[in-house]
This record gives sequence, C-alpha cells and structure tokens, in this order.
Amino acid sequence: MSAQQLPTPVPYVSGETEPFWSGAKAGKLILPHCTHCDHTIWYPKKFCGECGSLVVEWREASGEGTLYSFTQVHRGEGPYRDLASFVLALVDLDEGARVLTNIVDADPAQLFVGQRVRAVFHDAGDAAALVRFTPLSQQST
Ligand SMILES: [Zn+2]
Repeated sequence: MSAQQLPTPVPYVSGETEPFWSGAKAGKLILPHCTHCDHTIWYPKKFCGECGSLVVEWREASGEGTLYSFTQVHRGEGPYRDLASFVLALVDLDEGARVLTNIVDADPAQLFVGQRVRAVFHDAGDAAALVRFTPLSQQST
C-alpha cells in the first residue's frame, strides 16, 4: 500500500503565502527567511516568529532534510479517509525549519529517524503544489 497516491487537496493560497505555493508549483522549495536573525520561517508568513522582524526575504531552500519523527496513520480524515494508510512525519529542513508533512514512495517499515529525505512536489490545483518528502538513496554521511 506504500505506493498509493495521496490526495492533493487544494491549499488556501493567501497573498502572504503565495511565493511558497507558486514556488512549489514550479518544483522549488521557497521559504521566507529573516534577514535580521538569520532564521528560516515556517509556516510561511511575512514576519519572523523568532525576533518579530518584518524584513523577510524569500529564498530557495535545498529541499533536503532529516526525518525527525513519523507515524503511520491508518485512519485518516477528510480527503485522506479512504487511504489504507499514509505516513505523517516531521522533517527538519537543512535550513532549520521543522515541517509537518507526508513521506511518500517509501516502505514505512524501512523509514527511520535521522533518515535523509528530499522534497517532492504534488500538483494541487492551478496555483500550488503540496510539498512532501521521499527518502534519499541510502548512503552513509
Ligand atoms: Zn528574525
């Protein structure tokens, strides 16, 4: 069941989050970055939750990160309710943000905390794509 396609509910795209969604649509992970305290902001917004600065710059992230935590969900809600199961995960991006996401194209039994992952983009409507993650090929670091 791990190869099952996840639903792609169309996200709400506000003016504040539009650069993130249009970036994802173009296959890029674009995140707001605080130029004052050098903090990568998540969830995308136009101010820094760390220092309160309103000076925010959109930057392309590497799209890679590390699996911090994950769980296999067998009873989803909303658009996910018809899935046999899916993997809900927290991924620490290399830029520092911790993102709630899904792991796709992976056998849940083979996932492990600390695993390296990279972003994949699933089209969701005309103006956005959902950012999910898939394991990088195994290699020692
Ligand atoms: Zn800041």
